[in-house]
Amino acid sequence: MQLPDGITDLNELAYITSRKLANEHGEKTGSVLLWRKKSDEVFHYTLKCPHCGSEQASRALFNRRPYRVECYSCKKSVVIEKLAK
Ligand SMILES: [Zn+2]
Repeated sequence: MQLPDGITDLNELAYITSRKLANEHGEKTGSVLLWRKKSDEVFHYTLKCPHCGSEQASRALFNRRPYRVECYSCKKSVVIEKLAK
């Protein structure tokens, strides 16, 4: 798996996931890389919005699943669903 910027060792991370994201037509036009360091409560992510194609990087605190981020550009909510396998 590709490591996020600034991360040199997978052991630094408590959580990491990489997903393709589908738009409302079911086309997987977006993607997200989401991770959290062991030393940090805050999640970091890089998102390519499946709805508008905008690319962005940000941080978020998630209190409960499913994890959800909002696109800066089109304001649509993107759900990062639980891993199927
Ligand atoms: Zn968007």
